[in-house]
Amino acid sequence: MSNLPNCPKCNSTFTYEDGSLLICPECAHEWTLEADTENREDHKIVKDANGNILNDGDTVTVIKDLKVKGSSSVLKMGTKVKNIRLVDGDHDIDCKIDGFGAMKLKSEFVKKI
Ligand SMILES: [Zn+2]
Repeated sequence: MSNLPNCPKCNSTFTYEDGSLLICPECAHEWTLEADTENREDHKIVKDANGNILNDGDTVTVIKDLKVKGSSSVLKMGTKVKNIRLVDGDHDIDCKIDGFGAMKLKSEFVKKI
């Protein structure tokens, strides 16, 4: 018995692995597990100001001055933010910024580097 997923096209259970590919012998459909994960309906796609897809661990820059909630400081345009983490919600980026600490940003105000 294998624990490979069924074919997404014909739902065959006879799928097999060939390197990083999964292959269905019944309808000849080929796909990868990674692509399968991307296509899951609960996978939210977060895009930056230019429409590029953001991923956990990406480095972005802030594209406009942003007021920091609860303080008088301003996050300057061009500030580099490393190792972002995508989260659900209105502010969909969780990150840590030198001098500011942990904070949340909106993906529409950043640009992937
Ligand atoms: Zn198939």
